[in-house]
Amino acid sequence: MVNIYLENLDEIDESFYGKTVNVSGWIEDSRSIGSLMFLTLRNTTGKLQLIIKKNLVPEELWNQVVHLTRQSVVDTNGTLAYNEKNNIVELIIKQLTILNSAEHPLPLDPTGRVDSGLDVILDARPLSLRKPEIQSIFKLRHNSLMYIREFFIKNNFIEVNTPKILSQGAEGGATLFKTQYFDKPGFLAQSPQLYKEQLMLAFERVYEISHYFRAEKSNTTRHLNEFVSIDFEWSCKNNSETMDLCEDLVKYLINNLIKNNSKELGLLNSDLNHHLDAFDRITYEDVINDLNSLDNKKNYGDDITEHDLVILSAKHKSFYFITDWPSNIKPFYISSYEDSELSMSFDLQFSNIELSSGGVRIHDVNKLKSNIERSGLDIKNFESHLQTFKWGMPPHSGLGLGFDRLIMVLANRKNIREAVLYPRDQDRLDP
Ligand code: ATP
Ligand code: MG
Repeated sequence: MVNIYLENLDEIDESFYGKTVNVSGWIEDSRSIGSLMFLTLRNTTGKLQLIIKKNLVPEELWNQVVHLTRQSVVDTNGTLAYNEKNNIVELIIKQLTILNSAEHPLPLDPTGRVDSGLDVILDARPLSLRKPEIQSIFKLRHNSLMYIREFFIKNNFIEVNTPKILSQGAEGGATLFKTQYFDKPGFLAQSPQLYKEQLMLAFERVYEISHYFRAEKSNTTRHLNEFVSIDFEWSCKNNSETMDLCEDLVKYLINNLIKNNSKELGLLNSDLNHHLDAFDRITYEDVINDLNSLDNKKNYGDDITEHDLVILSAKHKSFYFITDWPSNIKPFYISSYEDSELSMSFDLQFSNIELSSGGVRIHDVNKLKSNIERSGLDIKNFESHLQTFKWGMPPHSGLGLGFDRLIMVLANRKNIREAVLYPRDQDRLDP
């Protein structure tokens, strides 16, 4: 008889009953009743009940299986049978090889019967991924990357890869990780900002998905020291067209997740159907007025703090944009309206979480120089960047969208660390 290798436990149907199959996976549970052993096998495709009858297998195998620890990995061979009484499919075992035993006790219980704290989960990250709910977060992440790339490709963007070791940071300042680059200092990239702007010289539309590093000592549920950002830049587009593209991107992603990832979203209790309405667009000035009317004293020109965003989130529970920020609280490369101190900029928020900052960039080299100086940055560090603006730089705009924060929101998680495989924060450099 030909053995079938069971690829997908979710796809067992009547046509498999009575067939001899091979299957491998982890032992999630075991119990014995007299001369019968019941094992639950799980692999990445689902679960299957294994039955071992003492009188059908060699004594040595029986003795091994009796002492099998949970989460040991096995390869088995047996016959699939439908158990009418319990309405389940079972594998009656003929052979079983223990490929590797797991230690006991394990640092966490992947079946989810015993809950673990986030630190325990992160310390045993690969084991935690056997828990279907946790694994779902990373399946969503995987699919999201695919849909995001698909969206950009459909919109004629090209994917670029810019360097992550730099001689200076995009915005300078204290949040750069310094490193030794042979006999010179080097810095880890905080964003691809300057490079993606330079590429506007040749490509009309670019995007990049990559890791960035910020030496911020912020200990919050939405900051990490290494994060993934989705960046795009396109030429000859205004602020509102750039927000439109951002909104279309997020909705394209959500629609695809709803269509193709209902299993993962269900496990995570994430209902994305609420987030498909048009995203509100409110100006910075409206936000200041709103906050003042809610007895939260703010002056025009103040930055909007975490506390303010929590207050605003009573009114804005889903995605929304805050537009037209005062120029002095936006980076030097952001453009202002004609004769105005108001910038052509936006932040995309989800409730009280900032997901993205973007806007129209300055393409005039003299304006850019004076803004760099006004920001207190050293113009010498920007020479190679500034010269590219003399080579026919078109007007352009774009954004940076925090991918880990986006996944945290879409997967209905409270802490960014849950959406990242091996998060890096002040206390965590290992694993
Ligand atoms: P925040 O005010 O929340 O610290 P930011 O305004 O400094 O963010 P930007 O420079 O605007 O961040 O970066 C664009 C996006 O990148 C942010 O909206 C956010 O989604 C993401 N991002 C920035 N810093 C971090 C970080 N430390 N950890 C995770 N994501 C980040
Ligand atoms: Mg920002």
